[in-house]
Amino acid sequence: MSKAILFDLDGTLLPLEFNDFMPRYFGGLHTAFVSMFPDGSLPKLVLASTDAMVNNDGSRTNAAAFWIDFGKRIGASRQELEPLFESFYRDSFGSLGEGVGAWPDAATAVAAARRQGATVVLATNPVFPREAIEHRLRWAGLEPAAFDLITDYENMRYAKPNPGYYGQIAADIGVPGSSCLMVGNDVRLDLEPAREVGMKTFMVRSEYSDYGPDGFAADYEGTLKDLIGFLS
Ligand SMILES: [Mg+2]
Repeated sequence: MSKAILFDLDGTLLPLEFNDFMPRYFGGLHTAFVSMFPDGSLPKLVLASTDAMVNNDGSRTNAAAFWIDFGKRIGASRQELEPLFESFYRDSFGSLGEGVGAWPDAATAVAAARRQGATVVLATNPVFPREAIEHRLRWAGLEPAAFDLITDYENMRYAKPNPGYYGQIAADIGVPGSSCLMVGNDVRLDLEPAREVGMKTFMVRSEYSDYGPDGFAADYEGTLKDLIGFLS
Protein backbone atom coordinates (compact mmCIF):
# COMPACT_ATOMS: atom_id res chain seq x y z
CA MET A 1 0.00 0.00 0.00
CA SER A 2 1.24 3.47 -0.86
CA LYS A 3 1.49 6.07 1.89
CA ALA A 4 0.73 8.83 -0.59
CA ILE A 5 -1.25 8.80 -3.82
CA LEU A 6 -0.73 11.58 -6.35
CA PHE A 7 -3.27 12.32 -9.06
CA ASP A 8 -2.69 14.25 -12.23
CA LEU A 9 -5.75 16.29 -13.28
CA ASP A 10 -6.02 16.85 -17.07
CA GLY A 11 -6.74 13.61 -18.91
CA THR A 12 -6.53 11.66 -15.64
CA LEU A 13 -9.39 12.95 -13.44
CA LEU A 14 -10.75 15.51 -15.92
CA PRO A 15 -11.66 14.64 -19.52
CA LEU A 16 -9.72 17.55 -20.96
CA GLU A 17 -6.22 17.90 -22.29
CA PHE A 18 -4.14 20.97 -21.63
CA ASN A 19 -3.53 21.55 -25.34
CA ASP A 20 -7.28 21.42 -26.02
CA PHE A 21 -7.88 23.81 -23.17
CA MET A 22 -5.32 26.40 -24.27
CA PRO A 23 -7.46 27.98 -27.01
CA ARG A 24 -10.30 28.49 -24.50
CA TYR A 25 -7.92 29.89 -21.93
CA PHE A 26 -6.26 32.26 -24.37
CA GLY A 27 -9.64 33.38 -25.72
CA GLY A 28 -10.77 34.14 -22.18
CA LEU A 29 -7.57 36.03 -21.39
CA HIS A 30 -7.81 38.07 -24.55
CA THR A 31 -11.42 39.05 -23.84
CA ALA A 32 -10.74 39.97 -20.21
CA PHE A 33 -7.69 42.11 -20.99
CA VAL A 34 -8.60 43.49 -24.41
CA SER A 35 -8.44 47.10 -23.22
CA MET A 36 -4.83 46.64 -22.04
CA PHE A 37 -3.72 44.43 -24.93
CA PRO A 38 -5.91 45.44 -27.88
CA ASP A 39 -3.40 43.91 -30.33
CA GLY A 40 -4.14 40.41 -29.02
CA SER A 41 -0.57 39.91 -27.82
CA LEU A 42 -1.38 38.81 -24.27
CA PRO A 43 -1.80 35.04 -24.81
CA LYS A 44 1.63 34.77 -26.48
CA LEU A 45 3.24 36.73 -23.66
CA VAL A 46 1.60 34.53 -21.01
CA LEU A 47 2.70 31.41 -22.89
CA ALA A 48 6.29 32.67 -23.07
CA SER A 49 6.32 33.38 -19.34
CA THR A 50 4.80 29.96 -18.67
CA ASP A 51 8.10 28.60 -20.00
CA ALA A 52 9.84 30.41 -17.15
CA MET A 53 7.83 28.20 -14.77
CA VAL A 54 8.44 25.02 -16.74
CA ASN A 55 12.19 25.78 -16.63
CA ASN A 56 12.19 26.80 -12.97
CA ASP A 57 15.10 25.23 -11.10
CA GLY A 58 13.81 25.27 -7.56
CA SER A 59 15.39 28.60 -6.63
CA ARG A 60 12.07 30.44 -6.43
CA THR A 61 8.36 29.73 -6.58
CA ASN A 62 6.77 29.26 -9.99
CA ALA A 63 4.72 32.38 -9.30
CA ALA A 64 7.91 34.41 -8.76
CA ALA A 65 9.45 32.90 -11.91
CA PHE A 66 6.34 33.82 -13.88
CA TRP A 67 6.00 37.37 -12.63
CA ILE A 68 9.69 38.25 -12.98
CA ASP A 69 9.63 37.09 -16.61
CA PHE A 70 6.20 38.49 -17.43
CA GLY A 71 6.96 41.84 -15.81
CA LYS A 72 10.04 42.24 -18.00
CA ARG A 73 8.09 41.40 -21.12
CA ILE A 74 5.36 43.93 -20.56
CA GLY A 75 7.16 46.54 -18.49
CA ALA A 76 4.82 46.45 -15.52
CA SER A 77 5.14 45.05 -12.01
CA ARG A 78 3.46 42.10 -10.32
CA GLN A 79 1.87 44.57 -7.87
CA GLU A 80 0.14 46.37 -10.73
CA LEU A 81 -0.98 43.33 -12.69
CA GLU A 82 -1.71 40.59 -10.21
CA PRO A 83 -4.99 42.06 -8.93
CA LEU A 84 -6.29 42.13 -12.52
CA PHE A 85 -5.32 38.52 -13.07
CA GLU A 86 -6.87 37.55 -9.74
CA SER A 87 -10.20 39.00 -10.77
CA PHE A 88 -9.93 37.19 -14.12
CA TYR A 89 -9.40 33.87 -12.35
CA ARG A 90 -12.14 34.61 -9.83
CA ASP A 91 -14.82 35.97 -12.17
CA SER A 92 -14.19 34.68 -15.70
CA PHE A 93 -12.10 31.53 -15.56
CA GLY A 94 -14.86 29.23 -14.25
CA SER A 95 -17.02 29.71 -17.32
CA LEU A 96 -14.18 28.47 -19.58
CA GLY A 97 -15.15 24.97 -18.43
CA GLU A 98 -18.61 25.10 -19.95
CA GLY A 99 -19.27 21.89 -21.81
CA VAL A 100 -16.33 20.07 -20.23
CA GLY A 101 -17.67 16.77 -18.95
CA ALA A 102 -16.83 15.01 -15.70
CA TRP A 103 -15.92 11.37 -15.12
CA PRO A 104 -17.96 10.09 -12.13
CA ASP A 105 -15.23 7.52 -11.48
CA ALA A 106 -12.76 10.34 -10.78
CA ALA A 107 -14.30 11.34 -7.45
CA THR A 108 -14.73 7.66 -6.53
CA ALA A 109 -11.04 6.98 -7.19
CA VAL A 110 -9.93 9.93 -5.07
CA ALA A 111 -12.27 8.81 -2.27
CA ALA A 112 -10.84 5.27 -2.49
CA ALA A 113 -7.33 6.68 -2.03
CA ARG A 114 -8.54 8.59 1.02
CA ARG A 115 -10.16 5.47 2.50
CA GLN A 116 -6.81 3.69 2.25
CA GLY A 117 -5.49 6.25 4.70
CA ALA A 118 -3.08 7.63 2.11
CA THR A 119 -2.02 11.25 1.85
CA VAL A 120 -3.86 12.42 -1.26
CA VAL A 121 -2.21 14.94 -3.59
CA LEU A 122 -3.53 16.73 -6.64
CA ALA A 123 -0.36 16.71 -8.73
CA THR A 124 -1.54 18.99 -11.52
CA ASN A 125 1.11 20.92 -13.41
CA PRO A 126 1.62 23.92 -11.07
CA VAL A 127 1.47 26.72 -13.60
CA PHE A 128 -1.82 28.23 -12.40
CA PRO A 129 -2.91 30.05 -9.25
CA ARG A 130 -4.95 28.12 -6.73
CA GLU A 131 -8.20 29.81 -7.76
CA ALA A 132 -7.89 28.53 -11.34
CA ILE A 133 -7.05 25.00 -10.22
CA GLU A 134 -10.08 24.90 -7.92
CA HIS A 135 -12.32 25.86 -10.85
CA ARG A 136 -10.77 23.07 -12.89
CA LEU A 137 -11.27 20.59 -10.05
CA ARG A 138 -14.94 21.45 -9.86
CA TRP A 139 -15.29 20.85 -13.61
CA ALA A 140 -14.09 17.33 -12.76
CA GLY A 141 -16.78 16.98 -10.06
CA LEU A 142 -14.19 17.18 -7.27
CA GLU A 143 -13.83 19.36 -4.20
CA PRO A 144 -10.52 20.89 -3.08
CA ALA A 145 -11.08 19.40 0.39
CA ALA A 146 -10.62 15.91 -1.11
CA PHE A 147 -6.87 16.60 -1.26
CA ASP A 148 -4.23 17.08 1.42
CA LEU A 149 -2.05 19.03 -1.00
CA ILE A 150 -2.90 20.77 -4.26
CA THR A 151 0.16 21.85 -6.20
CA ASP A 152 -0.17 25.38 -7.54
CA TYR A 153 2.13 28.11 -8.78
CA GLU A 154 2.63 29.60 -5.31
CA ASN A 155 3.61 26.45 -3.44
CA MET A 156 5.82 24.77 -6.06
CA ARG A 157 9.32 25.61 -7.29
CA TYR A 158 9.35 23.21 -10.25
CA ALA A 159 6.89 22.13 -12.93
CA LYS A 160 6.35 18.97 -14.96
CA PRO A 161 8.24 17.21 -16.45
CA ASN A 162 11.07 18.14 -14.05
CA PRO A 163 11.60 15.25 -11.58
CA GLY A 164 12.31 18.01 -9.04
CA TYR A 165 8.54 18.64 -8.99
CA TYR A 166 7.88 15.10 -7.72
CA GLY A 167 10.82 15.33 -5.33
CA GLN A 168 9.41 18.54 -3.85
CA ILE A 169 5.99 16.93 -3.34
CA ALA A 170 7.54 13.97 -1.50
CA ALA A 171 9.58 16.31 0.69
CA ASP A 172 6.65 18.63 1.39
CA ILE A 173 4.30 15.83 2.49
CA GLY A 174 7.08 14.03 4.36
CA VAL A 175 6.67 10.73 2.50
CA PRO A 176 9.63 9.09 0.72
CA GLY A 177 9.24 8.82 -3.04
CA SER A 178 9.36 5.02 -2.78
CA SER A 179 6.13 5.12 -0.72
CA CYS A 180 4.25 7.25 -3.28
CA LEU A 181 2.08 6.20 -6.22
CA MET A 182 1.72 8.63 -9.14
CA VAL A 183 -1.48 8.24 -11.14
CA GLY A 184 -1.39 9.92 -14.54
CA ASN A 185 -2.28 9.73 -18.22
CA ASP A 186 1.00 10.98 -19.67
CA VAL A 187 4.25 9.04 -19.56
CA ARG A 188 6.53 12.00 -20.23
CA LEU A 189 4.88 14.46 -17.84
CA ASP A 190 3.64 12.18 -15.08
CA LEU A 191 5.20 8.77 -14.95
CA GLU A 192 8.82 8.94 -16.13
CA PRO A 193 9.79 11.85 -13.85
CA ALA A 194 7.86 10.37 -10.90
CA ARG A 195 9.75 7.09 -11.31
CA GLU A 196 13.02 9.04 -11.35
CA VAL A 197 12.42 9.96 -7.71
CA GLY A 198 11.43 6.39 -6.85
CA MET A 199 7.64 6.64 -7.09
CA LYS A 200 5.46 3.79 -8.29
CA THR A 201 3.41 4.62 -11.37
CA PHE A 202 -0.16 3.95 -12.50
CA MET A 203 -1.05 4.69 -16.13
CA VAL A 204 -4.71 5.60 -16.54
CA ARG A 205 -5.98 4.14 -19.77
CA SER A 206 -8.48 6.24 -21.75
CA GLU A 207 -8.62 8.16 -25.01
CA TYR A 208 -6.42 10.72 -23.23
CA SER A 209 -3.53 8.33 -22.56
CA ASP A 210 -0.19 9.50 -23.95
CA TYR A 211 2.37 6.70 -23.88
CA GLY A 212 5.21 8.73 -25.40
CA PRO A 213 7.93 7.33 -27.66
CA ASP A 214 10.08 5.47 -25.12
CA GLY A 215 8.23 2.21 -24.51
CA PHE A 216 7.89 3.08 -20.82
CA ALA A 217 6.16 0.35 -18.83
CA ALA A 218 4.20 1.67 -15.87
CA ASP A 219 4.11 -0.42 -12.70
CA TYR A 220 0.34 -0.60 -13.07
CA GLU A 221 -2.08 0.28 -15.81
CA GLY A 222 -5.85 0.36 -16.18
CA THR A 223 -8.97 2.45 -16.47
CA LEU A 224 -10.22 4.66 -13.64
CA LYS A 225 -12.56 1.79 -12.75
CA ASP A 226 -9.57 -0.55 -12.52
CA LEU A 227 -7.82 2.02 -10.31
CA ILE A 228 -10.82 2.09 -7.95
CA GLY A 229 -10.60 -1.69 -7.67
CA PHE A 230 -6.85 -1.50 -7.16
CA LEU A 231 -7.23 1.02 -4.33
CA SER A 232 -10.16 -0.72 -2.61
MG1 LIG B 1 -2.57 14.80 -17.78
